[in-house]
Amino acid sequence: MPEKATHFDYVIVGAGSAGCVLANRLSADGRHTVLLLEAGPRDTYPWIHVPIGYAKTMFHPIVNWGFYTDPEPTMNGRRVYWPRGRTLGGSSAINGLIAIRGQHADYDAWAAAGNTGWSFADVLPWFRKLEHNVRGANPYHGGDGPLWASDIDAPHPLVEAMIAGARELGIPRNDDFNGASQEGAGYYQLTTRRGFRCSTAVAYLNPARRRANLRIETNAHATRVLFEQRRASGVRYRQGGADATALARREVILAAGALQSPQLLQLSGVGPPALLSAHGIDVVHALEGVGENLQDHLQARVIFRCTQPITTNDALRTWSGKLRIGLDYVMKRSGPMAVGINQGGIFARATPQATRPDVQFHFATLSSDMAGSPVHEFSGFTMSVCQLRPTSRGTVRIRSTDPLEAPSMQPHYLSTDDDRATLIAGIRLARTLAATDAMRPFVAGEYRPGTDATSDDELLEFAKNTGGTIFHPSGTTKMGPATDAQAVVDPQLRVHGLAALRVVDCGIMPTLVSGNTNVPVVMIAEKASAMILADAGN
Ligand SMILES: Cc1cc2nc3c(=O)[nH]c(=O)nc-3n(C[C@H](O)[C@H](O)[C@H](O)COP(=O)(O)OP(=O)(O)OC[C@H]3O[C@@H](n4cnc5c(N)ncnc54)[C@H](O)[C@@H]3O)c2cc1C
Repeated sequence: MPEKATHFDYVIVGAGSAGCVLANRLSADGRHTVLLLEAGPRDTYPWIHVPIGYAKTMFHPIVNWGFYTDPEPTMNGRRVYWPRGRTLGGSSAINGLIAIRGQHADYDAWAAAGNTGWSFADVLPWFRKLEHNVRGANPYHGGDGPLWASDIDAPHPLVEAMIAGARELGIPRNDDFNGASQEGAGYYQLTTRRGFRCSTAVAYLNPARRRANLRIETNAHATRVLFEQRRASGVRYRQGGADATALARREVILAAGALQSPQLLQLSGVGPPALLSAHGIDVVHALEGVGENLQDHLQARVIFRCTQPITTNDALRTWSGKLRIGLDYVMKRSGPMAVGINQGGIFARATPQATRPDVQFHFATLSSDMAGSPVHEFSGFTMSVCQLRPTSRGTVRIRSTDPLEAPSMQPHYLSTDDDRATLIAGIRLARTLAATDAMRPFVAGEYRPGTDATSDDELLEFAKNTGGTIFHPSGTTKMGPATDAQAVVDPQLRVHGLAALRVVDCGIMPTLVSGNTNVPVVMIAEKASAMILADAGN
């Protein structure tokens, strides 16, 4: 029997940080019909919603794609684990909950590169619109948006010592990394709402779910964008073993993330011609930049043994500790279960030439070999160091024409002198911080890299042998003007050279923001929704 196509005004691929925002905003006034396709299931797995459930979703085979990079020569041939959310909410359903926007200069640099409308002054109203900050509204913050930013309510002696130690080094206390200046040390705000995860599915999709003009299809994997000449006309997708077609009267919007939006474009004949022809794919439109310009933050985890049994490792080691954590959460929605992993942060200048923070620390009152893996048997804490503006560039490329096969991902971490020097300087800064008067009483010893590693070469080897992602792949469908040979979308996020097709997700960042990427992606999707509706004449 011939398969029947369904018709919508907008077809959105991917219900992640960006896709849920788009689905809400485009369906809000009831004038447009919207289909949201999500490859993963509904977000019913309970651990998604409890902040400490991070460790449970980190390697979950259903709600997490569980990708690996290719063996990376710059990382001594290691394949680096790359989790990605695969459920309603996407990566915002499994992420570390840290609410960070990046630096004002990041967005000013986007605008200076020809992306009119993306300076910090331009994007600030969208950051305010998306935000429900528990501290209320002010010129930098929103008080009544859908995405909550909550404070960590219980101070921890280790975080306090970290902040005091940073002050000894001239790094000021900063109680608002998303305000006038990012620089300093303090507590992160988290995207939680009254102790539960506030994913974009919770913030944006739940309030919109019952709208008659919004259809949400889960376990629906988009396999191809369809074209009529140079106009995107719909999407093919696979659901329950059968193929289906959804046609888009107005636009197809790819929000499948920085790894799978470029994959889908390449599978659909939009990408570097040499790559497409190597796989026998007819070229619909040649765009060299699709899958190029991959950027990510690499974390080096500097781990210390603690002199006192006050770490989350200790609490999780005994049944009485677990019970106390559980009771804290059930009775007060506070404690480690409400916080997830990282409580404190530092944005600092680690290299002498830096004019703004070039490293970020994720400070956790626990320690483990990998993010999300079981905690150590000893009392430990972690300063995870990452360079904020990596200059290494990698690629995402299809391996085959099978849409269900993960693409090849090559981040080429640490492939530039600048990246190596900044990360080494960051690791040294972590050690200097641990040696301050405020921190020294808590430090029983350095577990990793260990005091034997002293030279730059030894610290670099440590980063290559143990470094991991801090989960921010981006840049693979770069936003830029038509004069930029690597640009995939224009500043309205329309794919260059094609009609009725946009990309709205982390991939459009021309350069990675100096910080975590969830809130920036939500901002991008808020701004994109307004542009799409403006084009529709609303
Ligand atoms: C473990 C982890 C920890 C992180 N921690 C933080 C943090 O603490 N703070 C922070 O700001 N950021 C964090 N991030 C990063 C941040 O969450 C992401 O950058 C952001 O969620 C990306 O949004 P996106 O919309 O681009 O993609 P995603 O949110 O990943 O959404 C893409 C969606 O598309 C779906 N999809 C993919 N392919 C298809 C297809 N072919 N058909 C249909 N659907 C498809 C996916 O299943 C997914 O739901 C973390 C990420 C991870 C994975």
